[in-house]
Amino acid sequence: MKRSKASVDYSQGGDHCGACTHFIDEDENEATETGKCELVEGGIGEDMWCKLFKRKGGAYKAGMARHVRKK
Ligand code: SF4
Repeated sequence: MKRSKASVDYSQGGDHCGACTHFIDEDENEATETGKCELVEGGIGEDMWCKLFKRKGGAYKAGMARHVRKK
């Protein structure tokens, strides 16, 4: 069962779902920037974040600064 957004502090935080290994980008319209998450229920915004964040291809580093998204 997926976690609720409230239980994982889903919010605008130190990083973003678009860089998270759990993010599933299923939306063909990139303008809406919505996707899904393997762990958290509901629609997920690429610019949001939660405490289950895990960087794609690497370990999470605490305190890492937000990086600029390439468009
Ligand atoms: S685990 Fe959290 S940070 Fe990662 S995609 Fe899901 S909601 Fe976003």
